[in-house]
This record gives sequence, C-alpha cells and structure tokens, in this order.
Amino acid sequence: MGHDFQASPMNQQRLDIEEQLRRLRENYVAQLPAKLGVMEDLWRELNENHWPAEALELLHRKIHGIAGSGGSFGLMELSQSARLLEQVLLKLKTEQRAPSTDEHVVLRDHFTDFRKMIQGLEGGDADPQQASSPSRETPVPQQRLIYLIDADANLAEEIASQLDHFGYQVEVFCTPESAVRSCKQRLPRAFIVDVSFSQTQATGMECIKQLDLPEEGGPGVIFISSRDDLEARIEAVRNHGSAYFSKPLDINALIDRLDSLTGQQPSEPFRILIVDDAEELAEHYALVLRQKGMVVKVLTEPSTLLQNLSEFSPELILMDMYMPEYSGMELATVIRQSSAYLGVPIVYLSTETNMQVQFSAMRLGGDDFLTKPVQDERLVSAVITRAERYRSLTSMMIRDGLTGLYNHSHLKEQLVQELARARRENGELCFVMFDIDHFKAVNDSYGHPTGDRVIKSLARLLKQRLRESDIIGRYGGEEFGVIFPNTNAHKIKPVVDDLREHFAQAQQFCDETKFNVSFSAGIASFPDFDNAESLTNAADTALYTAKHAGRNCAIIANPEDSQKPA
Ligand code: GH3
Ligand code: MG
Ligand code: MG
Repeated sequence: MGHDFQASPMNQQRLDIEEQLRRLRENYVAQLPAKLGVMEDLWRELNENHWPAEALELLHRKIHGIAGSGGSFGLMELSQSARLLEQVLLKLKTEQRAPSTDEHVVLRDHFTDFRKMIQGLEGGDADPQQASSPSRETPVPQQRLIYLIDADANLAEEIASQLDHFGYQVEVFCTPESAVRSCKQRLPRAFIVDVSFSQTQATGMECIKQLDLPEEGGPGVIFISSRDDLEARIEAVRNHGSAYFSKPLDINALIDRLDSLTGQQPSEPFRILIVDDAEELAEHYALVLRQKGMVVKVLTEPSTLLQNLSEFSPELILMDMYMPEYSGMELATVIRQSSAYLGVPIVYLSTETNMQVQFSAMRLGGDDFLTKPVQDERLVSAVITRAERYRSLTSMMIRDGLTGLYNHSHLKEQLVQELARARRENGELCFVMFDIDHFKAVNDSYGHPTGDRVIKSLARLLKQRLRESDIIGRYGGEEFGVIFPNTNAHKIKPVVDDLREHFAQAQQFCDETKFNVSFSAGIASFPDFDNAESLTNAADTALYTAKHAGRNCAIIANPEDSQKPA
C-alpha cells in the first residue's frame, strides 16, 4: 500500500487528467475550422436570402456555443469575439428582422474578426489560459504512519502503545536525524516531536525545518515539550508546528489532534452532475472537477435526468440554461418539485449576461449563476463551496454532534435497508450493541466533560478499527450500534473482542489521573433474527446478559431465546 515519492497513484491520476484536458483542447481547436465552414455557409445564406429565420436561429446557436465554450479551452479572445456577434444576432432573432445597414456593418466587422481568429489558430497552437497549473510532484504521506521523535524512550513507548490502540502505526526515533533519513523512504502523516530546547532536542525543530515540508497536504507536526511558555509555543509555530502539547501529556487531546491532522475519515469525493448538451464543454468541466478529486457524471441528454438523480444522488447539479429540448430552468423546477432533491444545489451555466434572466433563473430554484466561459478556478470554487454546505447540512440531520457517528434514527434506517439487501441477496448481517461499563461512575468521579471524552474515544476506536463498509452509530448516551454487512456472529465475535481489549487497555485521562474503562457488547445476526426490531431486541438482550456476566465481555444472542421478552 506504500506510495513512494516518484509515482503515487494520486499524482499519476492528476497527470492523466491533465493529459486528457490537453487532448480535449487540441480536439476543440481542430474542430473549429469545420465549425467556421458551417457558419460561413449560414452567413452567406443570410446575406443572400434576406435573413431567413431558421438560418438566423442556427447561426445564433453556433456562435452562442463558441462564446460559451472557447474560454474554457483557453481561447478567451475567441469567446469574446463570438459574444459580440451573438449579442447582435440575438437582438435580430428576438425582433424577427434583418439587420439595419449600421447593424450589418457591425456584424460584418465582428464576423471578419471572428473568422481571422479561427484561421489564425490553424496550425498554430491555442494559447491555453493555464487553466490548471501543472501539479507539483509532492510525496503522498502514509495515512496511518506517525513518526515519534523523542529522546525519552519510556515516554515514547507509552505514547506509541496508546496510539496503537487507536489504529495508528507509530515508529519511534531517538534522534531527529534518523527520522529524517526514514522520510526518504516513507513519509509519515504526522510527526510528534519532543522539544525541550536542550542541546540535542533543539535539533528536533531544526530537522523539521530542514525537511522543508509543503504548506498544504504534507505531514502535520505536533510538538511536545516540558515548557508551556509563550516563547516556546511561538518557536514551535515558527517551525511548522500545527499543535503544541506540554507535559504531562493529555493523550486523548493528542489523539484528537492527530485525528484532525490525519483527517481520519478522508472525506468522500463530492458527486457532481453536469447537465449540458454541449458535449465537449461538459466533458471539459467534468475533467476540471475530476482533477480536484470529484466524482462527475455528465448528462448531455436530459431525458434521463430523474433516473440519474436517484441513482447517482449528486451533491450539486451544474445546469446549462439553454438546451434544445428543455431549458435549464424547466429542469430545475422539476427537480425542486421532488422533496428528495429539494436541497441539492443547482448552479446554472450560461452565456446569459442579462441580469433579469439571471434573477428569474435564481427564483426558480437556482443557487448560483456562472457565466460562460467559466474560468476553471471559478467553477471549482463555486462547486466546492455549494457542495460543502449541502453536505454539512445533510450531515447535521444524520450525524451525532459529539462523535460524528450516525445518530440513532439514521442507524435504524440503515439497518432496515441493509436487512432488505441481505434478504434479497440471501446474505448475512450482524448487528452489535456496545455499552460502556459503569459509565455513571466515570461521570461521577471525573465529571461530565471527561465522560464525553471517553465516549469520543470509543467512537474513535470504532471508526478506526472497523471497515469502511461497517455502519457505525451512536445509539444513545454511552451506547453504540454497529451494522456489519455480509458476516455472521461467529466471525464478528473475535472482532468485537479485539476492540474490547484495545478499549480496555487504552488509557483514559482526567488531568493527571489515569484510568481505564471497558465496554460490554451484545451480538445478534440475520437470518437468526429476521427483522430490524427482533435483531435490535436480541442484541440488547445479549448486552444485558453480558452485563450480568460481569461486564467487559461480548455475548452472542441465542436465537432460541428470541421469543422470550427481554
Ligand atoms: P452499566 O455498566 O450497567 O452500563 O452501567 P452504567 O453506569 O454505564 O449505565 P447507566 O445506564 O446507569 O448510566 C449511563 C450514564 O451515562 C448515565 C448518563 O448520565 C450518562 N450519559 C448519557 N449520555 C451522556 C453523555 O453524552 N455524556 C456523558 N458524559 N454522560 C452521559
Ligand atoms: Mg447505558
Ligand atoms: Mg453503560
């Protein structure tokens, strides 16, 4: 799974996309002369036959297309020239008439400029607007790997073993130099560096400086120190420190910080749906967004819109305003009429510069308006801002605030869905309930905030040790529920026991007091229990049995007991 410096898959993918973007641009430029040919024919026909409506409509549409797309392929000037033409043509089209003599002169001059520009491109290179700066080859840090640099071997061992309980892979170095050497092979996701400003340890900061870590996306640096004065902290900040902990260490806080630094849940890529009949342009937008790691689906044929919405469930829709059969506003209205997609942001794409039209588009459920040609950066930032907001709003409805896990009602919905799937596929499924032992005593002895920390530490352990496909929820106070798809109780029991042992060994802290906490678990599986209610009841009963058996253990529900009341 190791990425190395030269050819990380991420960088490779980025390069591939850049290559594709370049090809799209070349393709676009190569097709321009043929497009110009068609426009020349139309231009001639208009002039010879006193401006028939169909030819006017067609020429307007062609020019409109270039005005909207040219800029995206690095041809800003061509776009602008097309727009000048388009404005006059649109006026004629709306007023259903031929140009006046003055208008004709203007049109002819614009058309000549436009023609020259395309002819100038032939053979020559398009001057791409540097849509996306070439990616710098940055080493990709390893997600779980932490380098701990500490001359105090005992403390280092203790920190390492605690971090290990939470799924981090820790390598301990006694000297900064040896850590720096190791960076040449594998880059960690974060450094924890002990700095006490004694002779040897001051070099810890210097070594971090020498590594010349990138500002963004590189490993995080956490300094630990026996000093807690401002001067020491400032020194740490100046040396790339993203966090500073003074001794005695609060391991929970340290792990919290590590979690956020390493971004434990690498956020899922945004899903973006592009609805635009201009195929090349849509593909260009798609590539630009994919380059930023998003999952993009392009729809050039809006008739399949509804089906795509439910299958792809986009987090944002980029909607062209003018398409041959339906207008973007009509489609947006249809989308807004379905309660499931009420909140999905819709961003219009159009050459429409008329403010009035933009306003009415917004009234009809649009969230933003991007005027073609859209600068790549503008596109990316508009999409990310809206999609992020949408995601965080949705997430507030389904997630628990303290732990970030699914809340009770969402977990229950998931259980019903997963059960339906298991039934359909003749598969198996496990549901496990976890409850922290004697939690009331934790609150009583150490206070509610410490209790919260303990709850968070179990949540973190579950997130880190379980698989991506396992569905984890906070069931209530100090209770958690986990759905394990495609497995049975006997396979899951060792997994739960492993979690249990790790949790019981993980040190909890309240100021300088250390203590340990355990949990008990009840395991029930489908098809032994065949609906959501009997499954949760069975897991609950098994949990109750585990408590009575002395706590800190996991019990599998017995299907024979399923008829008895809990
Ligand atoms: P057992 O081993 O039988 O599970 O004993 P227990 O003390 O853990 O169980 P009990 O259900 O009696 O107590 C649970 C306590 O958890 C009571 C409640 O005040 C506390 N609690 C519930 N939610 C929270 C929370 O969000 N934060 C904190 N700190 N405490 C909470
Ligand atoms: Mg409880
Ligand atoms: Mg409890």
